[in-house]
Amino acid sequence: MNFKRVVIKVGSAVLSENGKLAKERIRNLVELIAKLKKAGIEIILVSSGAVSAGYKKLKLDKKVLANRQALASIGQSYLMSIYQKKFNDCNITISQILLTQADFDSRKRSQNIQNTINILLENGVVPIINENDSVATDELVFGDNDQLSAYSTYYLNADILIILSDIDGYYTDNPTTNKNATIRKIVNNISESELNQIVTPNNEFATGGIVTKLKSAKFLMDKKKSMFLSSGYNLTNVEKYLLENAYKKGTLFRK
Ligand code: ADP
Repeated sequence: MNFKRVVIKVGSAVLSENGKLAKERIRNLVELIAKLKKAGIEIILVSSGAVSAGYKKLKLDKKVLANRQALASIGQSYLMSIYQKKFNDCNITISQILLTQADFDSRKRSQNIQNTINILLENGVVPIINENDSVATDELVFGDNDQLSAYSTYYLNADILIILSDIDGYYTDNPTTNKNATIRKIVNNISESELNQIVTPNNEFATGGIVTKLKSAKFLMDKKKSMFLSSGYNLTNVEKYLLENAYKKGTLFRK
């Protein structure tokens, strides 16, 4: 398949390292996006990492919701300043879009997001989306960017969602606790029991774990879209998949 429009979601585990923003990984991601754009693919980036970036600047207790929202507010602009620098080096203009679940609730609102994103993409801009964590209230949040990115893929008419995680694919069991787990290359169906597993994020800033990724994959597969889960540490598999339709590692979810 020739990809025209792709949503890439990068998790907080990939974006932070020892309590700091992982600038080298961010640079590699930005360079990959530049390469994909050169090949004619429109890219929308969904980026986590605001809370962990904020924590670098101000050590607030992350267990308190209002503190996390304050950290998101500090970290969002810091994170964007890092993206700004790296994308500048590649001559790419970026934009920031903060969304909550309510923004997709009505046709009118999702149409509005579509119109804005279409103009940005037509003009070569890379929109960077994040959940509007600092103002969102419980009923309105996705709670994790996996699902926000799945909605973005569907409502913004992208061909595929790429999830860059600290894990290089979907395994037969949790690979951090079961060394015998093996990676699944293609998944066509996700069962109820897989969706009801206990949530196991692998990092203090991660929120989703594998379950929100599976929910996102199911949401997209039900709508005849696909999702590719791959390592955010080594981007060669994603590059090969998007540019050559080939990959060694990673899990492709498709109907
Ligand atoms: P991110 O910050 O990238 O969203 P998460 O920590 O939320 O990452 O989710 C990925 C983690 O999910 C993995 O590192 C792993 O510990 C855990 N996990 C649990 N079960 C599985 C499985 N079957 N396959 C892959 N990862 C799994």
